[in-house]
Amino acid sequence: MLEYAVVGSGIGGCSIAAYLDAKGHKTALFEKDSHLGGCSSTFNRNSYMYNSGATTLAGYQEGHIVKSLFDAIGYKPKLLTTDPAIVILQNGKETPRFRDLEKFLAVVEQNYPHPKNREFWTLVYELNKKFYSTDGYYYSNRSLFKKAVSLLSYTPIFMKFFRYFFSNAKTFLDHFFGGIDKEYLDFLEAQIMIVAQAKSSEINFFTCALALGYTFNETHYVYGGMGALFDGMSANMQDVRKNSEIKKIEKKEGYYKLYTKDEVIEAKNVILNSTVYESAKLFDESLIQKYYQKYEKLDNHQSSFMLYLTIKSDADFSHHYQIIQDENFEMTLSKALFVSFSDKDDEQIAPKGYYSITASIHTDTRFWEKDADYKATKERLKNLLLESLMKNLDIQTSQIIDCISATPSTFARYINRSQLGGNAITMKNFLPFLPSNDTPIEGLYNVGDTVYAAQGWPGVMLGVNNLKRLLDV
Ligand SMILES: Cc1cc2nc3c(=O)[nH]c(=O)nc-3n(C[C@H](O)[C@H](O)[C@H](O)COP(=O)(O)OP(=O)(O)OC[C@H]3O[C@@H](n4cnc5c(N)ncnc54)[C@H](O)[C@@H]3O)c2cc1C
Repeated sequence: MLEYAVVGSGIGGCSIAAYLDAKGHKTALFEKDSHLGGCSSTFNRNSYMYNSGATTLAGYQEGHIVKSLFDAIGYKPKLLTTDPAIVILQNGKETPRFRDLEKFLAVVEQNYPHPKNREFWTLVYELNKKFYSTDGYYYSNRSLFKKAVSLLSYTPIFMKFFRYFFSNAKTFLDHFFGGIDKEYLDFLEAQIMIVAQAKSSEINFFTCALALGYTFNETHYVYGGMGALFDGMSANMQDVRKNSEIKKIEKKEGYYKLYTKDEVIEAKNVILNSTVYESAKLFDESLIQKYYQKYEKLDNHQSSFMLYLTIKSDADFSHHYQIIQDENFEMTLSKALFVSFSDKDDEQIAPKGYYSITASIHTDTRFWEKDADYKATKERLKNLLLESLMKNLDIQTSQIIDCISATPSTFARYINRSQLGGNAITMKNFLPFLPSNDTPIEGLYNVGDTVYAAQGWPGVMLGVNNLKRLLDV
């Protein structure tokens, strides 16, 4: 019998499975898709390779969570440090998000002059530094008592940052700047959205500061695509099963039975990397169904529309751009398109002289479910985004070798989820209302961006770290 069956190979599932395996626990990793990595995978289409969603690795630096976990697994990825982390394009202005505060302040002051700029960005910078040097906290959901005790571990964080926890970010920005013009606010909102997955009006200033300041930490480009991280993490694992969807799970006395379409597996513990919104349907037992159903209301239906391109070009591009226009693109929730280029010398992902490009914009899952003319709508949005990307980055039609798009429904087909970006931590949806990595059900655990702590590499890895502590491994 397995000690751990890990269902799903996203950031959360793959890293906890690799860790447990490295520590000598009998573990198997089950993945529905033919690639590991979920929202952070790399896929191949007609011999062109693309990152499916995530393109940036944050948190891989000394003392930070991703590096600590990779070190514990014994994995050293092949990375390139990116500085600036992103270049933001808005109304002809180009703002590189340099890691160095002074260098960044000089461009911000030129593009978005404001007497409070230095004070504001210094605060954002300092809050980031302070937060990433804090540890010792954890979060349990096993029982009310365990939850209450775990919440006490946040006392030092609370003491350090409490004045920012209770102030709404939008109100804070308005007061701090004493009025801020639309263009500067759009610039801030676009950056907040890609990290916090919410608008400033929905979050507290603490979350807002972490979102605006992530580029002051190290960010990395991953050679060979983000999928390389999963192949690397799982390289020494004995039991990795791709194309292996778990269709049903039964709780037995002291163990679980997991069913794929052609086998039955027994495991003492199950770690689900499926979203909490989708996990109820894996079980027939009403107690477990109810546990997950209570979290279905957290599903904000937010998702991404994707554009994948291969271009032939000798031009030099930054690794990441955010293109901000004045109004939302139709069928989306945003004015901002996030565009990532492969590295010029990364021939594992695109041949010399070519670039693999992944571009994304926020949308709502429901826009795509109800659309009777799905194909035509998808094509229209694809062309709209393509036009903006080509105009802003000076790319010609003749340079485009391949171009495809994906909607939330495409993601559902491949990785069982249409909501992307996980659980946004808003003023309403904060500890202690978040699902944790443990559950009140013996031997059943969760990991991923819809449970504690948050989305993205650092957010999901904080959850993996929490799970390690709860499992005591
Ligand atoms: C467009 C986009 C861009 C992003 N950009 C970045 C970025 O640049 N940097 C960053 O850090 N983060 C980024 N993120 C966020 C980040 O990608 C996600 O938060 C993260 O990848 C989610 O990881 P997860 O552990 O929740 O697993 P998921 O990615 O949700 O993967 C879960 C896996 O489980 C599998 N699965 C589900 N059900 C079953 C089942 N029953 N049986 C077997 N397998 C199953 C799925 O197939 C999937 O592979 C981005 C997200 C998107 C959508």
